[in-house]
Amino acid sequence: MLILLAEDSRYQRALVREQLECWGHSVVSAETGDQALKILTEANGPRLAILDWEMPGKTGPELCRLVRSQGGDYIYIILLTARDGHDEIADGLIAGADDFMSKPANMVELRARIHVAERILAVHDELREAREQLHFDATHDVLTGVWNRRAILKFLDSELSRCLRVSISAAVLMIDIDHFKKINDTYGHAVGDRVLTQISTRCIEVMRPYDVFGRYGGEEFLALLPGADLEGAAEVAQRVRLQAKRICLGEYPSLSLSLSIGAAAYVPGCSANELIDAADQALYRAKSAGRDRVELAASAMCSST
Ligand code: GH3
Ligand code: MG
Ligand code: MG
Ligand code: MG
Repeated sequence: MLILLAEDSRYQRALVREQLECWGHSVVSAETGDQALKILTEANGPRLAILDWEMPGKTGPELCRLVRSQGGDYIYIILLTARDGHDEIADGLIAGADDFMSKPANMVELRARIHVAERILAVHDELREAREQLHFDATHDVLTGVWNRRAILKFLDSELSRCLRVSISAAVLMIDIDHFKKINDTYGHAVGDRVLTQISTRCIEVMRPYDVFGRYGGEEFLALLPGADLEGAAEVAQRVRLQAKRICLGEYPSLSLSLSIGAAAYVPGCSANELIDAADQALYRAKSAGRDRVELAASAMCSST
């Protein structure tokens, strides 16, 4: 593994470095506390640091405190120092060190302590991956992989607060697959699932990278278009609507699809619910008027204006 060795004595540095490299580790060394801090704050920097106590610039315990005050991947710290009284050991550990060794280092012991570091770091990495997976699962739709309802409503809430603060526009599209039940009934649920996934991909293709697209419910999708007014939203909606015509499942050439879409633009002070309601009502009109069309909300019903 990549190890930072921060030690101002050239002799000690060479000694420990040689031994670490002999065990197969890569070593980056620092002669001062400031150099060490710079290395530890770089992206993809070392995850294990062996720090001297006394160094020019920052001391080992000062480095520990700074590293612990930052986020990012956990860095395992071993203080390797001649200052090994009980009070100093306690101070070093409280400052944020994980382990403490007296200088000159006993190499058998150092090797064993590096094993401990590797074990603890592996647990940290597993936990981080599990947390990332949980976060992904909590915010994404299992079938289509797009944002789920909870996530998109959260985006909408924060975008509407931003709109109010900095006076910018935003719009939403409520997108519903027409006669989707018939697709399921005719081709089976599994084909219906594939259609939902393809529709998601096709919709995202015609949106800007900062638009937010999510699955609102069964065969309904919600798109949040930051910065768009009603006219802009109508254009995106037409592009989205036409994407449905491009859906193609090789084995089912006769399968055809259309979308009904309701668009609504943000009115200063309106809530996420009011904006969604307005888009929903427009969608309802699109359905009543014959489907495969876009209808625009006159304006979001806003209880506060
Ligand atoms: P309309 O044009 O009025 O929107 O008609 P519709 O058939 O699209 O709407 P309806 O609400 O009657 O039916 C929606 C269907 O979507 C029924 C439901 O079984 C199906 N559905 C919901 N979620 C899923 C899913 O995850 N996979 C599949 N395959 N079907 C789903
Ligand atoms: Mg020193
Ligand atoms: Mg439908
Ligand atoms: Mg529906």
